[in-house]
Amino acid sequence: MHLIKTKTQLQNLLSQKKKKGITIGFVPTMGALHKGHASLIDFALTKHKLVVVSIFVNPTQFNNAQDLEKYPRILEQDCQFLATYKDKVIIYAPSATDLYGGNITSKSYNFGDLEKVMEGEHRPGHFNGVGTVLNLLFREVMPDEAFFGEKDFQQLLIVKKLVRLEKLPVTITGCPIFRQKDGLAMSSRNARLTPDQLKAAPFIYASLQTTRKQFGEKSALELKKMIEKGYSLHEGLDLEYFEIANAQTLKPLSRKRKNQKYRAFIAVFAGEIRLIDNIALNY
Ligand code: AMP
Repeated sequence: MHLIKTKTQLQNLLSQKKKKGITIGFVPTMGALHKGHASLIDFALTKHKLVVVSIFVNPTQFNNAQDLEKYPRILEQDCQFLATYKDKVIIYAPSATDLYGGNITSKSYNFGDLEKVMEGEHRPGHFNGVGTVLNLLFREVMPDEAFFGEKDFQQLLIVKKLVRLEKLPVTITGCPIFRQKDGLAMSSRNARLTPDQLKAAPFIYASLQTTRKQFGEKSALELKKMIEKGYSLHEGLDLEYFEIANAQTLKPLSRKRKNQKYRAFIAVFAGEIRLIDNIALNY
C-alpha cells in the first residue's frame, strides 16, 4: 500500500500504471475508515486492478465549524486499516493547500432541483463544496470509474450531475449501504456516539423499514406524520427531516406514479451528531 501526500507524487505513480494499461478505480473519502468504505474498495477491486482511496476532510463542504473541527482524523489508523490491500490500493491524503492550490473556496455550481432539498436545504453550500473538491480530485486522479455509497444518495446524484457539467471522462457507480448488524448505517461520525446514543441510533433504520413496509398502504403524508410522531416520542433522537422522494429527481412525492422509483430519506440528531440514512421503497 502506498501513502501519497502530493499531487506530483500521485501523478508520477499513476502515469506509470496507466502506461501499462492498468485501469484505475477511485474511492473518495474523508477518512476514519470503516467497513462501509471497505465495501466500496472491495467492489472497485472486482473491476480494477488498482484503486486510489483519497482521504481528505474537505473544509469547503462543512457548513458547521464545530462539525469540521470534531470530524475524526486518524490517518495512521486508516493506513493500517488498508494495509491488507497491499499494492492494490494507493492512499492519497493531500493537504488542503496542495489540493486547492492556496485558494480554499467553493466554486458555485447549478445542480438544479437536486440541491434544493434535504441535505442541500439543511446544509447551505454543502454541495458546492462537494462538487469543488471532487472536480479537483477527479482531474488529478483521472480514474476510469469512481465509486460512491448510496448512504449519501443525494450526493451520488449530485456527483453524476457534476460529471456531466464538468464533462469529466469518468463513470460514476453507486454501491449499497453497509450496515451494522443492528441496522445502523456505518458512518465515521458513529465513532462520536456515546453508548446510549449507539443504543438509540438503530431506531433510524427501523423507522425506514417501517416506512418501506407501509409504503403500499399509506400515503406519503400519512407516513411522514407517523414517522414525525415516532421521533417526537423518542427522547434520544431529534428528527431534522424525513422525506419521501422520487429516486431520480428527488422531488418530494405527492402522488405515486407507475414505473417511478421512490426512496425515503432521513436526517436525525443524536445529541450534536448528525446521522443520515435512506431506503428504497418500491424497488
Ligand atoms: P465519507 O468518508 O463519509 O465522505 O464517505 C466516503 C464514501 O463512502 C462516500 O461515497 C459514502 O457514501 C461512502 N460510505 C460511507 N458510509 C457508507 C456505508 N455505510 N455504506 C456504503 N457506503 C458508505
